[in-house]
Amino acid sequence: MPSRRVLIKSAIALLTLLTASPIAVQAANPAPVVATFSILGDMVERIGGEHVAVTTLVGPDGDAHVYQPTTADARAMAEAQVLIENGLEFEGWLDRLVNASNFDGIRVVATNGIKPIPFEEREGHHDDEGHHDDEGHHDDEGHHDDEGHHDDEGHHDDEGPHDDEGQHDDEGHHDDEGHHDDEGHGHNHGTFDPHAWHSLRAAVTYVNNITTSLAQNDPSNASVFYLNREAYVAEIEALDEEIQRMVDTLPSDHRIVITSHDALQYFGQAYGLKFLAPQGLSTESEASAKQVAGLIKQIRKGGIKAVFVENIADSRLIEQIANETGANIGGKLYSDALSGTDGPASTYLKMLRHNSTTIVSALGD
Ligand SMILES: [Zn+2]
Repeated sequence: MPSRRVLIKSAIALLTLLTASPIAVQAANPAPVVATFSILGDMVERIGGEHVAVTTLVGPDGDAHVYQPTTADARAMAEAQVLIENGLEFEGWLDRLVNASNFDGIRVVATNGIKPIPFEEREGHHDDEGHHDDEGHHDDEGHHDDEGHHDDEGHHDDEGPHDDEGQHDDEGHHDDEGHHDDEGHGHNHGTFDPHAWHSLRAAVTYVNNITTSLAQNDPSNASVFYLNREAYVAEIEALDEEIQRMVDTLPSDHRIVITSHDALQYFGQAYGLKFLAPQGLSTESEASAKQVAGLIKQIRKGGIKAVFVENIADSRLIEQIANETGANIGGKLYSDALSGTDGPASTYLKMLRHNSTTIVSALGD
């Protein structure tokens, strides 16, 4: 039997709900936000919830490296209050779209503050030198992420000045990108490996940057965004530990993972796996015959059991390598895009879990 006090409390709660109509009105007018690709779109939806209306430019299974924006994208950009991009020259087509669309909202580089992996010429990288580099970065990254995390948590209370700083940083970064393009540097790769979302530790920085920008754009719902962020980061950190435990079961000589394009270095660095790919950092780059021959040699020599296709890349080269070496196709990894809603990687966290279980079950004993 409910006591009288409980009944009174319920009555008060009901009254509060009934009089809280302004909140309902705001939720009916969610802030228009553009995310450049599906992984960012999912993160923004997790943090913004009903208070954001997310348009994702490059959808599930789409390849952001070679994307060509549409007029619908330009319309979405013109209305957007916030634009979330990966940065690190991943979206080589974005500056032009921004300029063409009269976007005047908050532009956020989600990777701002991570320790990026420098691009290195891939020729000869498949040997031991790459391994040393990976180890070095591993320590650096963990250290850096800790720092970034504390900084971002400090942001919560004093949002104003920090947000401004963030924006200046973003702008500087874009100028750099434009400069590279003007020099005919091309879109094959930038200075850094852009695929940082494959590190769950870097993902915490993504989530912090997204949260700060949503709160800046819509201060009345800032507390909701920060609460959503907290729950999300707890899930990210739990999955990070789960994946580490999973990968730790692999013997040390079963830790080479071969994929189509070089997208999973951040994952390898985080968990102690070595990723090799016939294609470079972008799906635009061509695999050289020499690189393919080198990989085939390495698979035979190392007794590598399985190679992996990707959801966004052409699988024929990997199939050919599997045929020539007798390695299995270990499964499909989701590299630069989520799956559709019915697929195994329909959210960012599902994608990381799927990739990990696919790799570990194919390479384990
Ligand atoms: Zn990629």
